[in-house]
Amino acid sequence: QQSRSGRCYRIHSDCVVDHQYQQLTLETLAELDWCLDQLETIQTHRSVSDMASSKFKRMLNRELSHLSEMSRSGNQVSEYISSTFLDQQNEVEIPSPTLKEKPMSYISGVRKLSHTHSLANTPLPRFGVTTEHEDTLAEVMEDLNKWKFNIFQVAELSNNRPLSCIMYSIFQERDLLKTFRVPVDTFVSYVMTLEDHYHSNVAYHNSLHAADVTQSIHCLLSTPALDAVFTDLEILAALFAAAIHDVDHPGVSNQFLINTNSELALMYNDESVLENHHLAVGFKLLHQENCDIFQNLSKRQRQSLRKLVIDMVLATDMSKHMTLLADLKTMVETKKVTSSGVLLLDNYTERIQVLRTMMHCADLSNPTKPLVLYKQWTERIMEEFFRQGDRERERGMEISAMCDKHTASVEKSQVGFIDYIVHPLWETWGDLVHPDAQEILDTLQENRDWYQSAVPQSPSPPPDREKTHTDRFQFPITLDKAGGTEKEKEE
Ligand code: AMP
Ligand code: MG
Ligand code: ZN
Repeated sequence: QQSRSGRCYRIHSDCVVDHQYQQLTLETLAELDWCLDQLETIQTHRSVSDMASSKFKRMLNRELSHLSEMSRSGNQVSEYISSTFLDQQNEVEIPSPTLKEKPMSYISGVRKLSHTHSLANTPLPRFGVTTEHEDTLAEVMEDLNKWKFNIFQVAELSNNRPLSCIMYSIFQERDLLKTFRVPVDTFVSYVMTLEDHYHSNVAYHNSLHAADVTQSIHCLLSTPALDAVFTDLEILAALFAAAIHDVDHPGVSNQFLINTNSELALMYNDESVLENHHLAVGFKLLHQENCDIFQNLSKRQRQSLRKLVIDMVLATDMSKHMTLLADLKTMVETKKVTSSGVLLLDNYTERIQVLRTMMHCADLSNPTKPLVLYKQWTERIMEEFFRQGDRERERGMEISAMCDKHTASVEKSQVGFIDYIVHPLWETWGDLVHPDAQEILDTLQENRDWYQSAVPQSPSPPPDREKTHTDRFQFPITLDKAGGTEKEKEE
């Protein structure tokens, strides 16, 4: 028998071919045809993760193009999101090279600083840092294990050493110095040297942000759904990765470094330029005098720690966001839990995937924090963006999205950032560790509503159209082939 597609099927000769059966046969053949079509069009050379992430990118692009048609500020928000969180290559005009003649055999940005002497012969302060406000600091530190922790106060009360203070306190709290036989003076030397390699004159990516991400990771590691899931070495790796994840950040984006032919972009061939550099500096600092905090780890432990840390820090490159989210959704779909409700992660791939996601979530956690903290982060990131914009203007370059202080719409950009990036990510994390993240998701929603209500009103576009548009946006988790079906395009 031949089907409508022209495929030939053998029908058993004993088949009774009265009308009813013939009808049934034809229907079955049609279904078979459909199945074969599906099989033929599956792109076996592409991974499920790849297909899922392209689908999300396509959907996000579609949403963003609606957004950019609505208004000029909508267009700017849309540009910011697509240039930061989608890994498409921008067509750029490259200004005259600014290369200096320098060998590449060393890691730029590493300076010789030693904190060994400052610690010798003095008893170690309670939080690892010298301060006149130890009692007040102790009160703030009571919230160390809470999401609402106020890292800004720690900075004020620790002579602006939030990273050293938080690392010391978390390592004490988790008893990691004893577990890994880290000499306390070596530990303090390393964290202080690390903190010194963050730029205090950069508005957002300074040691306060690193301290914030480290404390956030500390909380996420303790979420009930992950109870006793990770080994001490994995915990050590996650905290170390968070502490180093933005070290020596110059306050400009990867794209800026690429567009200006910077030495860093040259060094890392335009691929995850900053993230590669943060890793190189973070590891290199272990070689400074009395700074090797991993000196008593076995060779194998050092090797696995290094592998974990590299994976986690590279995952903070925002252009990997969609791939990470797609993989997370796949993991949530197939998640296994033990009888006590704890996640079952029985192989390396799954464990590192959760750690990688956790790092990305912590890096994108500003909008999930109490509003008083979140607003300060927004101010800082906008200041850093505007400084980059000023530099672009001075150089006659095109000003990056959200970096033009004369036109940027701060409140709108936060709503877009939450709707398109932060909420889809945290919602999926929430599914993974259900119901642990409920409070975080509630705060996120409240903060989103606050920024939405703070958007300066303009006569166009009609506000209700805009609201329904953003409220409706979601990432469904069905997969399809890369091009997208006609039906999907209509949807
Ligand atoms: P990182 O640069 O490693 O800290 O990665 C975080 C990136 O996410 C930043 O560079 C911004 O592009 C974006 N981001 C984080 N927080 C905010 C925020 N509050 N508003 C806008 N963008 C943000
Ligand atoms: Mg970074
Ligand atoms: Zn960061």
